[in-house]
Amino acid sequence: MLGTRMDAAVLAQTDWDLVVIGGGITGAGVLLEAMRQPQARGKKVLLLEQKDFAWGTSSRSSKMVHGGIRYMAQGDFRLVRESLHERERLLREIPDLVQRQAYLFVVRGRQFPNRWAMAPIMWLYDAFAGIRDHQWFSKARLSQCVPQLSTAQLKGAMRYTDALVDDARLVLRVLHEAVLEGGQVCNYVQVNHLSVHHTGGFDLSVYDALNQTETTIHAKKVVNATGALADALSGTEKKVRPLRGSHLLMAHHRLPIESSLTILHPRDKRPVFVYPWMGMTCVGTTDLDHTGDLRQEADCAVEEVDYLLELMQREFPSAHITQADIVSSFAGVRPIIASGKGLNPSQERRSHSVWTHHGVVTVSGGKLTTFRVIAHDVLRTLGWIDENKQRALRDTHERLFRHDVVFPNDLGNPKKAIEFNPTFLQTLEWIVQHEMVVHLDDVLLRRTRLGNTQRNGGQEYLPKIRTVCQKYLAWDDARWQLEQARYLEMIQTHYSLPKTHT
Ligand SMILES: Cc1cc2nc3c(=O)[nH]c(=O)nc-3n(C[C@H](O)[C@H](O)[C@H](O)COP(=O)(O)OP(=O)(O)OC[C@H]3O[C@@H](n4cnc5c(N)ncnc54)[C@H](O)[C@@H]3O)c2cc1C
Repeated sequence: MLGTRMDAAVLAQTDWDLVVIGGGITGAGVLLEAMRQPQARGKKVLLLEQKDFAWGTSSRSSKMVHGGIRYMAQGDFRLVRESLHERERLLREIPDLVQRQAYLFVVRGRQFPNRWAMAPIMWLYDAFAGIRDHQWFSKARLSQCVPQLSTAQLKGAMRYTDALVDDARLVLRVLHEAVLEGGQVCNYVQVNHLSVHHTGGFDLSVYDALNQTETTIHAKKVVNATGALADALSGTEKKVRPLRGSHLLMAHHRLPIESSLTILHPRDKRPVFVYPWMGMTCVGTTDLDHTGDLRQEADCAVEEVDYLLELMQREFPSAHITQADIVSSFAGVRPIIASGKGLNPSQERRSHSVWTHHGVVTVSGGKLTTFRVIAHDVLRTLGWIDENKQRALRDTHERLFRHDVVFPNDLGNPKKAIEFNPTFLQTLEWIVQHEMVVHLDDVLLRRTRLGNTQRNGGQEYLPKIRTVCQKYLAWDDARWQLEQARYLEMIQTHYSLPKTHT
């Protein structure tokens, strides 16, 4: 349904009205909202992604469609209100992918915020969402729900709700919708350079990683939605401060929680989440300046493993969680618009920014949850909508997802464990036929989460996966060997514990 992948050389034969660069949630959202506008009628709109769709931050988030309690504390009420509106919309429209989830904000000793400080915060949080869904859990009730939680100085927890998602699947769902609206998408095409064309519009020098060729694509308008890499194409001074956040995953039975827990880390009092996701228990995140090459996958560092394990061991002493319980890790890089004030990472605001230079519209920052709102800001800057239309779009009750795209077998359900069985193989057959799969890691790390939720990336299942891939993707034995080696190397290097921890 994403259509057949076309080589960049073929795409270069079209004079595009708009090219969106970046296939994360921001680019996908811009493409979809652009296709929805009357201006899109008869126009040719293309999204280009240098690697796979959702390869960047949008497959490595904490998987929460949420307002963000801590942004309330930072006074970022606008971001929280927008996020909660969007959360409720996504819960209504795609309940198969975005699911309401109970959260427990654990309160200990003289911790701030305590029960009394949280009460008005939660009242406002619910009011923004138009629901009333929070209540105080006493220590006894909390211990009943989470018996492994340490009772040292435990006062209780504020229970509230937010939502969980498979972030990569959300991106794919938005892309499916955009393609059904007439947009075109292509993965593994990197935009290396943008220049203003003498007849107007832009020349995009692109590299097609599949056939290793360079070509030039022409577009009348360009949106640079490349997340943490936005500075490379914006043409302006550096604005993005890349901040890394990592997560560890362990089998759910090692810490069988049903609610997501928000816990202040004993070391620095940062809120860290411990939550159930796809049959695993997940802990994260960290918040550090990322100095690595942004074109490569980020890795979880030794100190991040230590930091997260320290929390698990202090908070759940009876569970005896050790490194040996960690099934996998993942790290993502937040595209944060730098305040330039030298703030510590967690104090930097999470809101997005849109700016223009020589006609190139760049967008970066923001959240997964607010992709629709971000897209409207981009379209306004692009001149495709005006202020009135933007206000109308913000408040509209019209559906964002209008096409009947049903992923098979609960694919992307954040509350369903991934099991390797005949149904999984059936799902795989659907994926390789409909979702522009290029590499094995596209299938196992983003179209499904087998690679994240099984030890060694599910290496033991590869022989059966090979049969499906070879049948539908026409991979010969040599190609399979290359794909398998590439995938296992990726799992070892970027999704396992850092070397000194194994
Ligand atoms: C640890 C962590 C936890 C988070 N948790 C949450 C959460 O729970 N809820 C929430 O709402 N938000 C969360 N966020 C924020 C959210 O994930 C990001 O804001 C969002 O995913 C950014 O999307 P994006 O499309 O802007 O960037 P990306 O997803 O990084 O997409 C940019 C894309 O552009 C591509 N690209 C770059 N350069 C080029 C080029 N030259 N040519 C072609 N393509 C290019 C990249 O390959 C990439 O795929 C979290 C972020 C992190 C890091």
